[in-house]
Amino acid sequence: MTLKIELLNTGAELMLGRVLNTHQQWICRQLADRGYVVDRQVAVDDAGPSICDALREALGRADLVITTGGLGPTSDDRTRDLVAKELKRPLREDPQVLDHIQRMFALRRRPMPASTRVQALVPEGATVLMNARGTAPGLVLETPPRPGQTRPGLLVMLPGPPRELRPMMIEQALPLIEKHFPVEAPFVCRTLRTTGLGESALEEKIAPALRPVLERGVEVGYCARTGEVDVRFVARGARARELVAEAEQVSRALLEEFIYGTDDEVLEQVIVRQLTERRQTLALAESCTGGFIAHRITNVPGASAVFLAGLVTYGNAAKERFLGVKPETLAAHGAVSEAVAGEMAEGARRVTGADYALAATGIAGPTGGSEAKPVGTVFLALASTAGTVVQRRANRFERETFKYVTAQQALDMLRRELVKPPPA
Ligand code: ATP
Ligand code: MG
Repeated sequence: MTLKIELLNTGAELMLGRVLNTHQQWICRQLADRGYVVDRQVAVDDAGPSICDALREALGRADLVITTGGLGPTSDDRTRDLVAKELKRPLREDPQVLDHIQRMFALRRRPMPASTRVQALVPEGATVLMNARGTAPGLVLETPPRPGQTRPGLLVMLPGPPRELRPMMIEQALPLIEKHFPVEAPFVCRTLRTTGLGESALEEKIAPALRPVLERGVEVGYCARTGEVDVRFVARGARARELVAEAEQVSRALLEEFIYGTDDEVLEQVIVRQLTERRQTLALAESCTGGFIAHRITNVPGASAVFLAGLVTYGNAAKERFLGVKPETLAAHGAVSEAVAGEMAEGARRVTGADYALAATGIAGPTGGSEAKPVGTVFLALASTAGTVVQRRANRFERETFKYVTAQQALDMLRRELVKPPPA
């Protein structure tokens, strides 16, 4: 019998388009990585009747129902109440939860509003998931089997704020789910993260060689996102691990340097790791990316060990003053040019003493393009002891995507340099 899973996201802000329903993607992804496939996703306003209807229907259809949001203290946070009513489980104040809430307020040195106390109310028989990052606990209830089934179901209620929901799901809810509904056969999944190749080009490169292993039960999925494509392999059963490993090996042999990482790794993490291992440092000279490359690098814990400085030199005078770009070069070639990109990277390396310096200069648009250098034109430079290399790219996207893609290309230029063996 297959396990039916339903996800119920609640919140008026989801209906009004004020908040992107990221829980929907994130939770499905976490479940899928562990071999659980969600059958249906529903988002509803958190006003009473919609939640009640959706909940009743979900419990009638699914073995595992996960709700998000509506566990807070305000009058629009009604999930706890409505669930208690629907399942006829009276609410009782849990002293341990109340103590946790009081301590959270003491820690933040704020008085505890009386309304907050409702978060200590727990439906009879519920398992409490303590919330180390907030006040509202998550709740898990065993529910009657859905029609035609004998196995009891599970209702998991998670708080809305992502920084509370995510650790609670990983640390507490998923282990409970895995215990209650063990996956029937071993499940293995592996994601190869690539950049520099389009989705179709990538598939063309590996599909023929993958066919034999797919025929033996591996599923492949391609997911194209801005500036990168994921290839995901999934298999079940006794030989799952072996089959997925084979699919990975076949793909690696063909994709080689297009693969920058695996599973949840991001490019900037890979760069920080590589530089840390090599005990080398990085500086940035950014124009058209406006500091976005520095932002991505500094999102990685431990970046301070390798990242020395990022100079956002947007105007020509700043390029001259802080990076030593020559006025003649600017006059002769323009700020968006191979020569200026090179001098920017070399200047950043010189003024910071970093082992590597990356530079980006380009035309984000929508205006400012010319026939020779249309909107989207970017020059990327990498300076190191090995000299300076410059690449030209054509990134025709709106400004935010332009910055992301340009940053991705610059970081990838460095990554490809760093996979070469370190100097003796
Ligand atoms: P709180 O104690 O903050 O009220 P809660 O459990 O009642 O938490 P909600 O009030 O539903 O949760 O949501 C709180 C915030 O969490 C929302 O304003 C929104 O920023 C974020 N959030 C809620 N649901 C989602 C979702 N599906 N995807 C992304 N973010 C969400
Ligand atoms: Mg709320």
